[in-house]
Amino acid sequence: MVEVCDLCGRSPVKTTEHHLVPKQYGGAEGQTAMLCSACHHQIHALFKNEELAAFYHTLERLKDHPDMRKYMKWVKKQDPEKKITTRKSNRRKGK
Ligand SMILES: [Zn+2]
Ligand SMILES: [Zn+2]
Repeated sequence: MVEVCDLCGRSPVKTTEHHLVPKQYGGAEGQTAMLCSACHHQIHALFKNEELAAFYHTLERLKDHPDMRKYMKWVKKQDPEKKITTRKSNRRKGK
């Protein structure tokens, strides 16, 4: 099955369900987004569940965060079939 990531739009990727409002903040019944593992990790590395519940509970808001914008630019260039590991702001440049 071909899946598309709701955040970066890459395909085909394996997606996992992300609760836009974390379950412990009452989001169990709420909206979810299907995210590739890279995006999903990135979001949880960047935001605390508290912040997700308070403000970053829509894809638009997530995408609007400056660090997410940088991340999106980068991730769109990555091969969706290749597993990428996200590390906090560590992108080695130059060869
Ligand atoms: Zn993604
Ligand atoms: Zn999640």
